[in-house]
Amino acid sequence: MAQTGVQIITVEPGSLAEEAGIRPGDTLLEIHGEPVLDQLNYQYLITREDEAVLRLRRPDGSTLETSVENGGEGIGVDLAQDEVKVCRQNCVFCFVHQMPKGFRKSLYLKDEDIRLSFLYGHFTTLSSSDDAELDRIVRERLSPIHVSVHATDPAARIRVVGNPREGDILRKIDRLLAGGIDVHTQAVVAPGLNDGAIWQQTLDDLGARRREGRGSVLSLSCVPVGLTAHRDGLPTVQDVDPAFAREWALRWKPEVRRLAAANEGEPWLLLADEWFTRAGLEVPGRAFYSRSWAQLENGVGLVRRFLEHSRRFIRSPRAQGYAGRRVLLLTGPSFAPTLSRVAAELNRAVGSHLRVVATKNFSFGETVTVAGLLCGADLKYAAHADREAHEGRAGWVDAVVVPSSSLRTHTGPTDQYTLRGVVVREEGTFLDDLTLPQLAADLGVPTVPSGANLSHLLDHLEAADRGAFRGGALQEAFHTAGLNQPQGAYNP
Ligand code: SF4
Repeated sequence: MAQTGVQIITVEPGSLAEEAGIRPGDTLLEIHGEPVLDQLNYQYLITREDEAVLRLRRPDGSTLETSVENGGEGIGVDLAQDEVKVCRQNCVFCFVHQMPKGFRKSLYLKDEDIRLSFLYGHFTTLSSSDDAELDRIVRERLSPIHVSVHATDPAARIRVVGNPREGDILRKIDRLLAGGIDVHTQAVVAPGLNDGAIWQQTLDDLGARRREGRGSVLSLSCVPVGLTAHRDGLPTVQDVDPAFAREWALRWKPEVRRLAAANEGEPWLLLADEWFTRAGLEVPGRAFYSRSWAQLENGVGLVRRFLEHSRRFIRSPRAQGYAGRRVLLLTGPSFAPTLSRVAAELNRAVGSHLRVVATKNFSFGETVTVAGLLCGADLKYAAHADREAHEGRAGWVDAVVVPSSSLRTHTGPTDQYTLRGVVVREEGTFLDDLTLPQLAADLGVPTVPSGANLSHLLDHLEAADRGAFRGGALQEAFHTAGLNQPQGAYNP
């Protein structure tokens, strides 16, 4: 992560920076004699003291040294975007290695960046983090951090991450904990790889590091491995079938409750929704999930949260906005049963005509059942098949809904970080580059993203009524959170 300063892109008129003679194009090299590594590091350094001592390099190569009385605030500059740090590991179930060929370049980029882990909850194996970087996490208090442990048994971890030097994850975690950093952890579980005694050891080791105060393992989630049909030349990994998922869910559900009881009712061990959806089991009630919905982005509690919201929404006057609407909802097979149940309840309550279609993923293979990895071509195929089956004299449907999570544009945030040499597509494009406007034009009916709940969806349907999705084009802001996210697909 060592860089030679960070370039200043803009200087706010009338700002402290302008008064100090700082100009766009200058490179900020040091604050208080410490090298400026990136935007996050700048925030840390600039807010540390009431007066900032700066060293900059001018475009002509000369150096400017100045100090600014900033009272511990920013000085009015925008810095160049940081480049995402790229992973050099070789995990046996890495999703990127299992991507079909021919997708755009950004989808093959593996990020492994502690800054994204801190800012956005991306999981990192810490394999690319040396001691200096771990010390930086401590110094800048980048807490909590999200760590993919997978297994604490060194031999098992080496097998999982494919790197003989990365067996001892506990050493790295302990260094962070000793520095007062909290850690959310996860294990992606594959049968025969890190289940059984290896999983038990992982649970015990991390459980022993849950403590009061700073420097604690805040949670451990287990997520079933996700395999696509594109594993040619990759190591054999056994998939989690419904029988294994059922056995796992039933075995560990009581343990979640037991550990929560010992933790003032706050769940610490977290089971991803997919254990239940793959097994065809009902997801547990609200108390099974942490009060703050910890690891929601990792697929823990999404279904329960959706059900809770739906129950309240259907009883509210706003639900009448669905009355009479004929809507086709496309989603992945894992979420379809839940969504169908909720749609039926809404139909009964307000007289709407919502229909759910479990959409097969032909692009990645039918083993991939999450909504967030459906491609435009899969959704188009499912919508046409539904039209053939259901178009009658009164027409087909008034609108088609696609999962918002299938419109995720990239593997990480883009306002602050760039993906090395890669152009990130616009919002409103599916993984296979088909755009929402193109799909809407093909289907000939308004086609809208789902949002995260029935309320978001109604906002979108009403926006379509107003012509905000004219020709499928998004004329105003829409809810980007999805009804169902890919489970850890991009943040393994
Ligand atoms: S799973 Fe994550 S850490 Fe492992 S190879 Fe893929 S991107 Fe790297």
